[in-house]
Amino acid sequence: MESILEETKFIIKKYNIKANKSLGQNFLINEEVVNKIVEASQITEQDLVIEIGPGLGTLTKSLLEKAGKVICIELDSKMLNILEDRFSLYNNFELINNDVLKVDLKNIIKSEKKKGQIKNVKIVANLPYYITTPIIMKLLEEELDLESITVMIQKEVADRLIAIPGGKNTGAITYSVYYYTTSESILEVPNSSFIPEPEVTSKVIKLNIRKVPAVNPKDKDKMFKIIKNAFMQKRKTLLNSLTNNGIFKDKQQGINILHGLNMKENIRPEELSLEDFQKISDNL
Ligand code: SAM
Repeated sequence: MESILEETKFIIKKYNIKANKSLGQNFLINEEVVNKIVEASQITEQDLVIEIGPGLGTLTKSLLEKAGKVICIELDSKMLNILEDRFSLYNNFELINNDVLKVDLKNIIKSEKKKGQIKNVKIVANLPYYITTPIIMKLLEEELDLESITVMIQKEVADRLIAIPGGKNTGAITYSVYYYTTSESILEVPNSSFIPEPEVTSKVIKLNIRKVPAVNPKDKDKMFKIIKNAFMQKRKTLLNSLTNNGIFKDKQQGINILHGLNMKENIRPEELSLEDFQKISDNL
């Protein structure tokens, strides 16, 4: 059997493809990484897999062999011919030519589940890195009926997503990921595993959607608004950020709330756990 590298080079030549940098096109050429991603996603015949950005179809091929159905969402219309040529003989293959951020995933999942064959829905992707955060936030905030999200993304971003809130290397997104999922680090991937090579190291992570969110705030939107505002100016104390952004009416209100929760006045946002933010939100 041809190696993935040879196969990819052949396809690129045959269809005269030039990787489009602005669409984050870095094609995977490492068979071991493909296998690890598929293995980590634990796909069965009862699964619908939604693949974001199939590109030349390197991952798609393995996904089609395992899943009940694979729906691919690809923005670049240059990839459509390639994907159709490669996979139109599979009766579990469907292709949507659109920007994933514009696709009504909730509806797609609902109608696929209605048909009766599909039990679980899993997202699997080597994501375009320029829109990693909006894609992850869409998948989480739309509260889609998903079981897991297995994605390859830039290592630096991956580490922030799966950090433990209250620890090092966190941002507002860390709290969202923790609220909705439990996370696993699967594999670090060197840039030599792609053509063209990206400038950064990559990492595969798996987010398992929680059946019940990690905390139960009175007003979820309010809690996340506080978290987002707290992290807007990272070097400032929580008190200053939330006062400047108008979350606290004034400094005194902030001090009263922090004292009431046994938190020091100069606490920084990254020192807070998700539960701490929930308490502030519930007390405001
Ligand atoms: N899955 C292929 C692989 O592993 O070799 C390609 C991965 S490449 C990093 C990202 C893919 O996402 C590209 O095929 C690109 O065209 C596609 N893409 C970029 N922006 C997109 C968007 N907004 N919606 C859907 N697909 C997008």
